[in-house]
Amino acid sequence: MDDARAEQKERIFNGISASPGIAFGEAFVMNVEDLAVSEEHIAPEQVDAETEKFLAALAQTEKELQKLVRSLEDEIGEEHGKILDSHRMILKDELFRSETIKMIKGKKVNAAYALSLVLDKVLTTFANIKDEYLKERAEDIRDVRRRVLRNLLGQRVEGITSLRKKAVVVARTLTPSDTAGLNKKYVLAFVTDAGGSTSHAAILARSQGIPAVVGLNDISKSVRPYDDLIVDGITGQVVVNPAPETVAMYREMQARYNELEKNLLTLRDYPGVTLDGHQIELSANIEIADEVEDVVSHGARGVGLFRTEYFFITRNTLPSEEEQYRYYSSVVKRVQPDPVIIRTLDVGGDKIARWVGDLREANPFMGWRGIRFTLARKDIFKTQLRAIYRAAAHGNVKIMFPMVSVLDEVRLAREICEEVKDDLKRQRYVIGERPEIGVMIETPSAVAIADLLAREVDFFSIGTNDLVQYALAVDRGNAKISYLYDTLHPSILRLLRDTVAAAHKNKIWVGICGEMPGNIYGALLLLGLGLDEFSAASYLIPTIKKIVRSVTYDETRSLVRKALAMGTAREVRELVDRFIHEKRPELREFHPEAAS
Ligand code: PEP
Ligand code: MG
Repeated sequence: MDDARAEQKERIFNGISASPGIAFGEAFVMNVEDLAVSEEHIAPEQVDAETEKFLAALAQTEKELQKLVRSLEDEIGEEHGKILDSHRMILKDELFRSETIKMIKGKKVNAAYALSLVLDKVLTTFANIKDEYLKERAEDIRDVRRRVLRNLLGQRVEGITSLRKKAVVVARTLTPSDTAGLNKKYVLAFVTDAGGSTSHAAILARSQGIPAVVGLNDISKSVRPYDDLIVDGITGQVVVNPAPETVAMYREMQARYNELEKNLLTLRDYPGVTLDGHQIELSANIEIADEVEDVVSHGARGVGLFRTEYFFITRNTLPSEEEQYRYYSSVVKRVQPDPVIIRTLDVGGDKIARWVGDLREANPFMGWRGIRFTLARKDIFKTQLRAIYRAAAHGNVKIMFPMVSVLDEVRLAREICEEVKDDLKRQRYVIGERPEIGVMIETPSAVAIADLLAREVDFFSIGTNDLVQYALAVDRGNAKISYLYDTLHPSILRLLRDTVAAAHKNKIWVGICGEMPGNIYGALLLLGLGLDEFSAASYLIPTIKKIVRSVTYDETRSLVRKALAMGTAREVRELVDRFIHEKRPELREFHPEAAS
């Protein structure tokens, strides 16, 4: 830290912890402000030169984008290059080119101003649109504008994909596709103004083991590029320009945390079994196929949730059957004989696929999501199912449908599975014959009809991320109301109890793939509620395993009985705190407060 910065006063921001770990680094502030461009009049004889300048800036930007695509492909995989497809399409758009040139010629203005006017006009039409897909496209247009302008004005671009040295990414918000494009090699941590702990950016950070804090309100406006930051993803605190004593304290905490993580990895090859012999399967959630190595290295038993939509939302065109087949097979082969639960496409909500087109919805989370989408787009659904059945020939695959709220959805989806299987057999493909078929329980309606659903499927996996948002009517990504988003709310515990009872009564197994087992409260209560499987980010598996192996099933059952009699989430939390304090003090190191 240089002298000038050392004099800056330390500032502390409190947000929502999104992914554990402690990181130190300089801030890389993403695209907070658009570049200011002033109007300059040019003489008629300068028009050609100005037009040339504009075309040269476009060519330069295209070159930069190509380079970025190549380095993204090399560094994090071929799929990630697709993230920039829409930038390149905007850049190549003929209208945008000809309109800007027309403006330079007609109004005799500088290229930067002409370009800004043209794109501002496009962006104003986006301004009042609430649709998430279009909002994201507007961001792409802004990003292209910044890139071209910086080339025109000779400045550097601050876009997430241009990050080329280790830094803490500071942003207003990160879309799921931004986050999928994060290069782990350079991103020490990320902090955002918006978001909740189960927003998809937070989920991806956890999957990739990147510390993250979200819901910080206006940190992107307060932090300047190259400020020194400490990100504490355990308690949700971010320290800007920390004093030397603070740095020393966090260094110690980081060392403790790393030591704990290292020790936990020694449990890698042990099962998730309680002191009194009750076994629970611990598997991992993944978003992209490359994460499968983390699944193996953290000792998870297969993949409990493969969020296939990330393969679809990071590109501009639909992946073909062959591409999907190769993609799914790579995961299936890597973990077999352990299972892979492949969830069919769950686009919608905040997971926006570019190729869907205009998806203007007033309430995207209550809209055309998950199975509702795939049943309406059977072409897409069947292609995905064909790829899944073919991948199932290579190992232990299970198929899962998201966002189910109606019994008919499951019946129809199963019929389509049969059709797909028959077609494949007729075409002489080798397929996995009988993958188990399950549904996610993530709407209150699915809980209410869980007994009926259980007769139609082989397993349930509870999606608490959505179940909590729908049951408590709290948008999972909205930082303003995140205080209401609580998995320990008695209503949630009751919904979980009822789901487990319906599953077991009908002799099917029930797991959870929401984020709830990722903290000590959730882990203890879910164990006592009788879940058969937990699936969580790979990085969280060793901690969860340690918790499971440190208690008896019996004592967690009795803890749950008491918890179910409580009136508020606060009381439930206090009850679990008391249990840890009195019965299992050795678990205190996994308590969120143990970090501070
Ligand atoms: C969930 O809702 O809990 C879940 C696992 O699905 P997603 O987070 O992908 O919506
Ligand atoms: Mg969900």
